[in-house]
Amino acid sequence: MVTWPVPDSPAQTLPGKGEPGSFGEDRGDRRHCGIDIRAPAGSPVVAIADGTVIETGVQTDPAWVPYWNRTWFVLVDHPGTCIARYAELADTTVGAGDSVREGECLGHIGRVIHPGRVTSTAPAYIRELVRNGITAMLHLECWHSRPVLSGDMYRGGNWFGPEPPSTLCDPGIILNDCR
Ligand SMILES: [Zn+2]
Repeated sequence: MVTWPVPDSPAQTLPGKGEPGSFGEDRGDRRHCGIDIRAPAGSPVVAIADGTVIETGVQTDPAWVPYWNRTWFVLVDHPGTCIARYAELADTTVGAGDSVREGECLGHIGRVIHPGRVTSTAPAYIRELVRNGITAMLHLECWHSRPVLSGDMYRGGNWFGPEPPSTLCDPGIILNDCR
């Protein structure tokens, strides 16, 4: 059993297979590494289980892709469950080495997309999100072991190779068992 990571999300449901924000979603030249849970910017994001923070850092930055705002990630080792990357956060309230309890706040939902900088050259899935007014969400990835993410293969929560990273797993399987 784990705790749903966004207490204020409108529903505790995940996007269905192939839907926007679903795990492995085909985005043309890239596939989605995690799942997106939509919630208003500023909503708390909590640990799905007890664990230890491995790392925090920048997830997206306008210097890398113009339509991105700066957002943050928190990588947490949840022994016996997974290593979870909570991403696209406005801020983080924990740091590397911290122990966290299940349900403890890790940070807050950020606004990953800057609609005013999304142009016709942006990927179709980004333009679709903006059309639907969706710019804030938790991007959650689950890994079997600590990921090594190279800039060639991983960017903004997507992988660019034909096959998913071998240690990546479907967060839906883990969140299926929420309290
Ligand atoms: Zn995502």
